[in-house]
Amino acid sequence: MAATKKDVLNFVQIFDQKMEEHRQELTDMDQAIGDGDHGINMNRGMKAVGEKLPTFQDKTIDAILKGVGMTLVSTVGGASGPLYGTAFMRAGMAMKGEEELSAEDIGKMFDAAIEGIVSRGKATTGEKTMLDAIVPAKDAYNESIASGKTITEALTVAEKAAWKGVDYTKTIKATKGRASYLGDRSIGFQDPGATSITYMIQSAKEAGEKAGK
Ligand code: ADP
Ligand code: MG
Repeated sequence: MAATKKDVLNFVQIFDQKMEEHRQELTDMDQAIGDGDHGINMNRGMKAVGEKLPTFQDKTIDAILKGVGMTLVSTVGGASGPLYGTAFMRAGMAMKGEEELSAEDIGKMFDAAIEGIVSRGKATTGEKTMLDAIVPAKDAYNESIASGKTITEALTVAEKAAWKGVDYTKTIKATKGRASYLGDRSIGFQDPGATSITYMIQSAKEAGEKAGK
């Protein structure tokens, strides 16, 4: 069953709640290897998005995603605002004209979001960033869909792959972003951006569960 606009709005709202819930955890993580603002940044951005959600109800899916991205870019200072913002805007552009999202469409959104993050941040996997969670999640999602799983089943597998990626970030040193200033001293710490993007995937999974898709 395809995802509707209501499911997309639900996903955004769940992600807003999660960024509120995990604000301190993400901030503590960023305190260890960055400047201690990731939770604050993501909470501020998604709260601004949440406040705009009522005005998004009448928009198309692509316009909603673009609106989320633009709000994140304009309200979040720091690296994560433009990175998440570009991801949402690119995902929206990839869904132009779609009234519902098929399982394959969601795979295309993953691809577009990753392309946005890469074009903005010039990182690749293995550099201790959000890419280390979302790239394996995208691969796991697409494999699951290809083998006939439902959207929610595939997102469940994707979330597991993302958490594995989060664990992997603990074992490597950062070569992009603020944490790269620490060099080898960044090893042993979990990347905050990889963690928040895993909560984003978890939010999508929960929206899917809620809709029974
Ligand atoms: P800042 O580093 O400006 O304080 P945040 O603390 O909000 O911004 O976000 C930090 C997170 O952004 C990191 O944990 C990492 O996952 C992600 N990040 C930083 N630089 C890049 C990049 N070039 N590409 C992808 N992700 C990045
Ligand atoms: Mg920071």
